[in-house]
Amino acid sequence: MQIEKKDIRALSKEQLRDFFVTNNDKAFRGNQVYEWLWSKGAHSFEDMTNVSKETRQMLEGNFVINHIKVDTMQRSSDGTVKNAVRLHDGLIVESVLIPTETRTTACVSSQVGCSLDCNFCATARLKRMRNLEPGEIYDQVLAIDRESKLYFNRPLSNIVFMGMGEPLMNYNNVIKAIDMITSNEGLGMSPKRITVSTSGVSKMIRKMADDEVKFKLAVSLHSAIEETRNRIMPFTKSFPLPELREALEYWYHKTKSKITYEYVVWKGINDNKESVDALVKFCKYVPCKVNLIEYNPIDDGEFQQASPESINAYIKALDSNGIIAKVRHSRGKDIDAACGQLANKEV
Ligand code: SAH
Repeated sequence: MQIEKKDIRALSKEQLRDFFVTNNDKAFRGNQVYEWLWSKGAHSFEDMTNVSKETRQMLEGNFVINHIKVDTMQRSSDGTVKNAVRLHDGLIVESVLIPTETRTTACVSSQVGCSLDCNFCATARLKRMRNLEPGEIYDQVLAIDRESKLYFNRPLSNIVFMGMGEPLMNYNNVIKAIDMITSNEGLGMSPKRITVSTSGVSKMIRKMADDEVKFKLAVSLHSAIEETRNRIMPFTKSFPLPELREALEYWYHKTKSKITYEYVVWKGINDNKESVDALVKFCKYVPCKVNLIEYNPIDDGEFQQASPESINAYIKALDSNGIIAKVRHSRGKDIDAACGQLANKEV
């Protein structure tokens, strides 16, 4: 019977050091291999050139490295790059590199498919197959960092967890991945350059606050009226707005970090005065800013982008109440790489 080999990246540095000691080698060997696995992003034991052949073979006999493979890469006319990433078990997720004049942002996935049911999002139509492992999240970032250096001559500057999946439904693995991304043994990136976006899982927002995380928080609000929000994001019935509000107040109290609300304005859904007023009121509870995201149509036409006048009404109202609001135009639309369009169409 063949024993299934363990993914070596599931081991902490301590566990790896212990493994070598138990196998009559030096603990230091654990540090070397750990560096290959994370900061150097080795895909195979063969790559580990400063480790002896015997040790590499011993590792090969005991472990696998479940690294990702960029299956296809598409480039948009606006410079955006979308990677379809194949996981060790054949499943696919997508990640996106978004270049601007001053930044390169990686938009990464946290789950294969999504457990939520936002009616306007293409990813929601894919069943949630499984959570991504920390290494699989980390690898997406590493791949984009390499592409950024290759195509734009600069390293990745920011990361947003706005790809496929709900990061707070895969909390532990997302946190482990961020720990590696920010650690000097990984990419050494500042947590201030990382944003985790949630559709509003209140109890996990509280947990993050308790854990005193240092990255930024974005919340996909889309409506500050319960009934409307429940209709377009049905799962939010389990996370009512007053509960979300309290969780966000708690977050701010603990972290002193401003929240970004993501908000799409749709024709006939939230392009009315009542919705504008409700958002302004909601924004006053906790220091925040609002990103008004352009809608990216996903086929059946149930949702349509509201008129520029309706969007201006939001900007005016938010502005006159001292709340920063910005309109965010989509990037990479021609390759289905924009918000809500990630749906593994090409594979
Ligand atoms: N599940 C998390 C992470 C996904 S982020 C969350 O919901 O925050 C993806 C962002 O794109 C969310 O703000 C989501 O509401 C938004 N989005 C989804 N479908 C969209 C679409 N068709 N057009 C524009 N934005 C969309």
